[in-house]
Amino acid sequence: MAAMSISMNQARKAPHQGFCYPNVSHVSPAYAYQYKHDTESEAEFTERLLAELEAEFSRVGSEKVVAFIAETVSGATLGCVAAPKGYYKGVRALCDKSGILLFLDEIMCGVGRTGTYFAFEQEGIVPDIVTIAKGLGGGYAAITGVLVHEKVVDVLRQGSQVFNNGHTYQAHPISCAAALAVQRIVQRDRLIARCAEMGQVLERRLRDGGRHSRPGGCSGASSL
Ligand SMILES: *Cc1c(COP(=O)(O)O)cnc(C)c1O
Repeated sequence: MAAMSISMNQARKAPHQGFCYPNVSHVSPAYAYQYKHDTESEAEFTERLLAELEAEFSRVGSEKVVAFIAETVSGATLGCVAAPKGYYKGVRALCDKSGILLFLDEIMCGVGRTGTYFAFEQEGIVPDIVTIAKGLGGGYAAITGVLVHEKVVDVLRQGSQVFNNGHTYQAHPISCAAALAVQRIVQRDRLIARCAEMGQVLERRLRDGGRHSRPGGCSGASSL
């Protein structure tokens, strides 16, 4: 219910109306195609989003805000939407100013999918909590990871010394072994650099304007 509360997937939330956490608030999506005004530059759009976030922190009371949570490159509900340039750098600065944790969901976009190991690296920032999963096991193992910054771990160590989180198959050795094998192959075959290179090729060919027939390609399917 907590995860659903921070989500904006209305269809999934609908059956649970009334059960979601009230102490969550949302700001405008960092989604230029739908939300940037025609008269605005990308930098102005970023600035407007950050001003809105700062105002929302103040409205709630920044001392009461635990974390800002976002999917670095939105995939689950939008299909690969990157935030405008400078957005996460600005978010990081606002969080730092008020001692708010930055929590990025990189389950879909992390572990090499965007041409760097983490998508957030491209903004030159370090979040405090990151979730990773899909590319971690490459589809061969059911595995998820939560990466927590030392500064958060230190506080837990000084306090309860417990991270109160548990699953039956937590730290399962078979999943861990499979994920390790996947990560070794990703490294051995330089798949992240390859992803960055092929991303450039894909972009070039898409911008090229629809002349992408491949000899013997299936009709009806996309033919890049
Ligand atoms: C798949 C996905 C999840 C769910 O991950 P699980 O490991 O199945 O809990 C969460 N966030 C994003 C962005 C996803 O794509």
